[in-house]
Amino acid sequence: MNVPLLDLVAQYHGIKDDVVRAMMTVVDRQGFIMGPEVAQLETEVAKLSGARHAIGCASGTDALLLPLRALDLKPGDEVITTAFTFFATAGAIHNAGGTPVFVDVDPASMNISPRAIQDAITPRTRGIVAVHLFGQMAPMEEMVPLARRHGLALIEDAAQAIGARRKVDGTWRRAGELGTVGTFSFFPSKNLGGYGDGGMMVTQDDRLAERLRRLRLHGGAQQYHHDEVGFNSRLDTLQAAVLLAKLPHLERWSRARGERAASYTEAFTGHPEVCPPAIDPANEHIFHQYTIRVPRRDELQAHLKANGIGNAIYYPLALHLQPCFAHLGYRRGRLPVTEAAMDSVISLPIYPELTGEQQGAVIRVILDFYA
Ligand SMILES: *Cc1c(COP(=O)(O)O)cnc(C)c1O
Repeated sequence: MNVPLLDLVAQYHGIKDDVVRAMMTVVDRQGFIMGPEVAQLETEVAKLSGARHAIGCASGTDALLLPLRALDLKPGDEVITTAFTFFATAGAIHNAGGTPVFVDVDPASMNISPRAIQDAITPRTRGIVAVHLFGQMAPMEEMVPLARRHGLALIEDAAQAIGARRKVDGTWRRAGELGTVGTFSFFPSKNLGGYGDGGMMVTQDDRLAERLRRLRLHGGAQQYHHDEVGFNSRLDTLQAAVLLAKLPHLERWSRARGERAASYTEAFTGHPEVCPPAIDPANEHIFHQYTIRVPRRDELQAHLKANGIGNAIYYPLALHLQPCFAHLGYRRGRLPVTEAAMDSVISLPIYPELTGEQQGAVIRVILDFYA
């Protein structure tokens, strides 16, 4: 049986009428730039994130770049982040003029370690970019006071965690709610994916929101008047229309992902070699990825491929070891938990439309391999 890693065609079949109608409304109006759908989606995502402001932009990468630019980094200014993430997290720090400082992750969640952040703070540190990896939040209750104590911006890269929650001091808090800025990606394969690129930033800070709104429009609040040099980084009206049509399904989709995760975990729990992902009990995980850790990972990957089972390695080469960051001087051995993770992780199909039969096939192929 062929089981893809993700099946967006199956999702499309379930929502086609709504999405096509929403897109055609924009096409019929011929208003493609900053149409009313953008503001509507911003209102909805602000609500979903418990934030006062949401500002659409061109991608999840730009959603990181703009708030980093708003830090006005000078050469040598440092921003602490994880090396176990998609490239954009650190690429944005570099492109905003900062130096990424990579620290290790927690061995259970593979999220950035607050203790490691603390140890990496120097007089040049200006901010922290924490990633809510694979759909479960990093420990905000530790990072928020740490950032406050040192006067640092705390950016939540929530590209994989839209709608995820974490219990902080007895209260459920949303991804993007507690940081200086939270960032989302609407890349098609994300839990809320558009039909192209798109992103959004959320914040509680009125003045920062103003600045981010300017930065996405060439640095001017008023057309043809530029207070600073910004970017062309708008969210397309067509993408906003698609996302508004998909948004009402998001909670159901996240629930369906959670159910499939529970089935995998039930099948793998107690297995001598297959280690299911650890879920922090404080977290409501939205399972952007279901990532197991295994010995002989590359052999398992070949076996899955030979049996038609989609899979992916997120991430095969941690960012501190990427050639483009060689000048920063990291060597293998520097971030041992991250390096152990990159050598043992493999992500399995976890989309809402995955059938029980398909999931059974995935489990069977994996258990057979280690039998
Ligand atoms: C997808 C992703 C991004 C970048 O989003 P794009 O919309 O592709 O630019 C950034 N950070 C993380 C953790 C991601 O998974």
